[in-house]
Amino acid sequence: MFSSRSIAFLAAVAAVATSSCSAFVPRSAATSRSTAQLYSTAESDSFVSEGAKKQVGNSAFLNEDLMARAQNGPGKKNEESLKIGIVGAGLAGMIAAMDLVDAGHEVEMFEARPFVGGKVSSWMDKDDNHIEMGLHVFFGCYYNLFGIMKRTGSFDKNLRVKEHVHTFVNDGGKLGALDFRFPIGAPVSGLTAFAKTEQLGIEDKFHNAVRLGTSPIVRALVDFDGGMDMVRELDEITFTEWFTQLGGKRGSLDRMWDAIAYALGFLDCNDISARAMLTIFMLFAIRTEASVLRMLDGSPQTGLHDPIVNYLEERGVKINLATACKELVHDVDHDGKPTRIRGIKVGSEAEYKEYDTVIAALDVPGIKKLLPENFRKYDMFDKIYSLECVPIATVQLRFDGWVTELNDDARMMDISGDQSDGRGGGIDNLLYSVDTEFSCFADLAVTSPGEYYKEGEGSLIQAVFDARGFTRSNKQLVEDCTTQLNKVFPSSKKLNVTWSSVVKLGQSLYKEAPGQDKLRPKQATPVPNFFLAGSYTYQDYLDSMEGATRSGLMVADEVIARADGPTGLKAMSLEAQAANDAAAPAAEEAEKEKTLFFAQERA
Ligand SMILES: Cc1cc2nc3c(=O)[nH]c(=O)nc-3n(C[C@H](O)[C@H](O)[C@H](O)COP(=O)(O)OP(=O)(O)OC[C@H]3O[C@@H](n4cnc5c(N)ncnc54)[C@H](O)[C@@H]3O)c2cc1C
Repeated sequence: MFSSRSIAFLAAVAAVATSSCSAFVPRSAATSRSTAQLYSTAESDSFVSEGAKKQVGNSAFLNEDLMARAQNGPGKKNEESLKIGIVGAGLAGMIAAMDLVDAGHEVEMFEARPFVGGKVSSWMDKDDNHIEMGLHVFFGCYYNLFGIMKRTGSFDKNLRVKEHVHTFVNDGGKLGALDFRFPIGAPVSGLTAFAKTEQLGIEDKFHNAVRLGTSPIVRALVDFDGGMDMVRELDEITFTEWFTQLGGKRGSLDRMWDAIAYALGFLDCNDISARAMLTIFMLFAIRTEASVLRMLDGSPQTGLHDPIVNYLEERGVKINLATACKELVHDVDHDGKPTRIRGIKVGSEAEYKEYDTVIAALDVPGIKKLLPENFRKYDMFDKIYSLECVPIATVQLRFDGWVTELNDDARMMDISGDQSDGRGGGIDNLLYSVDTEFSCFADLAVTSPGEYYKEGEGSLIQAVFDARGFTRSNKQLVEDCTTQLNKVFPSSKKLNVTWSSVVKLGQSLYKEAPGQDKLRPKQATPVPNFFLAGSYTYQDYLDSMEGATRSGLMVADEVIARADGPTGLKAMSLEAQAANDAAAPAAEEAEKEKTLFFAQERA
């Protein structure tokens, strides 16, 4: 039981840590200093638009005003209307399109898949089962994405708030929790959650408290910038390296932190960057609402994407599905470096389309494939090829009962009547486990019942396997998922799997490993009318739905800031067009002469 003595102990540790933080030197201080400087608040200076500047730097993490910005749109109409082609209709591309059409531009989108949404997409099989690319949860600090959802009318309607508890499921049905429900908010609620958790034994709790007490998080409670700068400096080491440096023990990593690391980046603590993990804990420690989880009421297509697509289509944005971009048609300088994008070739016929500005809002494999080789002459594009991605396999299993109902066998077997609206049996929350190979999972028929609950049927478990399971056959993954569920929910052995599906993504998120953060490109590129978006681009947050949203808003701001004026994107486009028109007669003449020459040769 959590006592006032343990609060006093943690407070004391916190106080000691706060005073000793300035003496903390990360292992690779010499190299990491430059990383921190690169991405500190000063980094915002390298963006042109005020909007993008506000999205980076320490204050952007806690800036709730960003929600209003995302909700209200860019707040500016450009004088010039650009013809803009956006490649990729994941969240980043669609959100960029929302702002750009509102700023007065003519926007057309091209998506390789037959549906929008990218890594958050969902679709229906021939028997009307909703399949998902992966399980998606919304942290309470998703200010930008929540703003977009308010703008498209889906925030209040389509999100279900979960109990403020992060639940761990262990072998034999033993539950542990980080329970953030406490009358006093952050940071006390966080301290109590770690002090009370059943997931760790007393010794591990002690070492955990000592390590967290000496972390940048504690410094951030009194000096947020100082704490955040320390976190940024930790991108060169893994979470394990950081955690075990000053008192953290393997037990906490094995029983708790690994599950959280897998849930954040599909990597364990030995692989994930300390910066990535501590960024999230920093938010949890400072803002109570940051660790509150929400899930969609139903599929992402209905709950998230349809409202965005409606918004876009009502404003005249054309979304071409199943129409991949095959080529970036561009001009080069004398050294063969790209200078300007003329247009893109799309679809199976490689139809050529001209644009004033092109945005590639792609995933990492997509951008690597699309960029022509000569773009790598620029360091910024070349670095993208060093970004690695993690594989995942999403398994969905339908049962004839309620899998996560641990206490009452009769309730577990009861699928009679109407149990819609989350009234099915079991746990209505995201679940973590270190005793399975899927680190996070949920029963969608309970957590997101909208289209996932089916009358007369039970749980729809959705579990995301990482690299450990990726190479196995679909059949094997279904078997392994079932066996492992039975291990952590022993009573579920009495239930049968009635339907299953497996979706594999060989390259999903970029790998949040040490040293990767500095490889992420900015949205504006050395090719003035070519821009990048996507959660892997630099947006000061993890590869996530919020990250994708931030990148979409930032790219729109950067385009809007450059559209007008004598050196703006429209002026550049008109100038290039005029140069082409002027060169056309000479080119035509040369072509005629060539034809005549070959005709004479043949004669
Ligand atoms: C299994 C899984 C679970 C996740 N869980 C969470 C979670 O719980 N919470 C969270 O916040 N985030 C989660 N994420 C991360 C989140 O889904 C992504 O960070 C986010 O969706 C990325 O959006 P994006 O628009 O940047 O990229 P994408 O969604 O990858 O969109 C890129 C689009 O470009 C298209 N494309 C590629 N090449 C071409 C081409 N040549 N022409 C046209 N189109 C092309 C692709 O088809 C795709 O639609 C999860 C991801 C996965 C894989």
